[in-house]
Amino acid sequence: MEPLGRSSAVSEAEPRQRSGEQAEPVLEVTDVSKRYGEREALRGVSFSAHAGERVAIIGPNGAGKTTLLSIVAGTQAPTSGMVSCPPGQVGWVPQQPAVYSKLSVAENLELFARLEKVKDPAVAVQRMLDQSGLRERAGEQVGRLSGGNRQRVNIAIGLLRDPPALLLDEPSSSLDPRQRERLWQFVGTLAQRGTSVVFSTHNVSEAERRADRVLVLADGELLFTGTAAELKREVSHGVEHDFEGAFVAFLRERGH
Ligand code: ATP
Repeated sequence: MEPLGRSSAVSEAEPRQRSGEQAEPVLEVTDVSKRYGEREALRGVSFSAHAGERVAIIGPNGAGKTTLLSIVAGTQAPTSGMVSCPPGQVGWVPQQPAVYSKLSVAENLELFARLEKVKDPAVAVQRMLDQSGLRERAGEQVGRLSGGNRQRVNIAIGLLRDPPALLLDEPSSSLDPRQRERLWQFVGTLAQRGTSVVFSTHNVSEAERRADRVLVLADGELLFTGTAAELKREVSHGVEHDFEGAFVAFLRERGH
């Protein structure tokens, strides 16, 4: 969220341990299932994410991406299974955040800091205004911001508690290409600092470019965990695929 080309407060902060420096994952999801009546939205999903790792969840509509992220965020309970990270330790950026469009950027940040019982709300608000590059917009109503700046506010709210893991549900879907680039730059800076970032996207090339690892979810089942290159190899059979082609071929081979 820091404007391009400027040094970021995120990168200046004390880095957390990065992937590889610690064996323990920041986030561990074990055998999570979710049932809505007759509908099984998730079936025995397990994955982990390490410090500094960017993990993309991709899959067709209705695959269970939002359900999985919201369970990890602690906004709904699984029917069975476990999430290792307590809800307060995970930052959550839902697709439709409950920000107040009539309140200013700073007022929204302060309100959420208080609601989430952040230790020193005023300090957290100042930190997030700097970190998100929103200081100049602090007094502006959120409803008047551009889509890119609104998304910065949403992410800033998710980061108020300085959590070790951040979850984002389709964070780039409503952004134009320039705003998207800035979003991914910011996410990259966060990960470099050691935050574990897990996001869902329908844009599979974005998953390939912006994630260290991808999870493929279809019909509530986790079908693949690995790098984009590994997924390509899995379906190559001597045929050269781009990642989108490989993803479609992979789903077809698995009957989806
Ligand atoms: P999309 O890519 O379209 O956003 P998704 O992969 O995020 O989809 P989910 O929104 O998690 O998928 O939904 C998974 C399944 O669970 C779908 O069949 C959906 O209809 C169902 N579902 C999700 N939330 C509820 C709910 N509150 N009550 C009943 N069914 C639900």
